[in-house]
Amino acid sequence: MYPASALLVLGFDRKTIRRAVLSGDLIQLRWGWFAAANHDTRTASAVRDGGVSTCVDALRFHGLWTPPGHNGLHLRRSSNLSGKNPACRPPSGCVRSAREPVDPIPVALLYAVGCLPLDEWVAVCDSYLNSTGNDVADLLAAMGKPGPAVLRRLRWVDGRSQSGTESIVRVRLRSAGFDVVVQPPVAGVGHADLRVGRLLIECDSVLHHASRADYERDHHRDRRAVVDGWLVLRLTYDDILYDWDGVLADILSITRPDRHRARTPQAIEMIQKSVLQSTLEGNVPSVFDLSTDF
Ligand SMILES: [Zn+2]
Repeated sequence: MYPASALLVLGFDRKTIRRAVLSGDLIQLRWGWFAAANHDTRTASAVRDGGVSTCVDALRFHGLWTPPGHNGLHLRRSSNLSGKNPACRPPSGCVRSAREPVDPIPVALLYAVGCLPLDEWVAVCDSYLNSTGNDVADLLAAMGKPGPAVLRRLRWVDGRSQSGTESIVRVRLRSAGFDVVVQPPVAGVGHADLRVGRLLIECDSVLHHASRADYERDHHRDRRAVVDGWLVLRLTYDDILYDWDGVLADILSITRPDRHRARTPQAIEMIQKSVLQSTLEGNVPSVFDLSTDF
């Protein structure tokens, strides 16, 4: 997709452009903007509507993890143009002239502040940092001079997260007051996604168990962790995106400070026997003291 000025730079003169439009090799989207026949349809829609693609659409175009929904057209347009779709709301000081049909990632992230809630926005930023090896300082520099709303959000970003769902769980749990450790090393297991006290939280994506090997590996990891005294909570994509209230209720139940008091004497005796047996076998839980859960 090209503005006419870009076609001229590429060596097309006005006569050649007209001929290409007549033959169908180029499609005129609006005055001064043209697309090749194999164009991206959402980007073309944004250009036809007087703007360029930005925000969630641009982030998807660039291949980053994006949350479900937000299916309306995400575009920005100059103030002197109009169209039928509402433009994404720019944060202060963020209006740019449109030279490319799709905004680069840092600009698209700025515009996404108005369309994505904190947890989803942070998840996309994490995805960007994790996939490029950049850090928050690099992203901030690429954004130029973002306003205070963006700076506040950037404090939540952490490129160590391995998936969008993991980022969302981290942000939501920290917002709820939990002390969350990202990618904690766990002996015999490797790295878990998140840790709250002795609760390990694994966040599976839609394609997580794409292979039999992944399935086997995760079940062995979970078994090892439980044997060593960790609690393991494995959350699915749907759990996180569509049943968060249920997930949070379960985590609150598991982590409540008086949980150990709720145990029956029989349960305590069973656990003590188990610990004694582990000690005799040389398989001593090395992670925590059973007298307190967290
Ligand atoms: Zn938007």
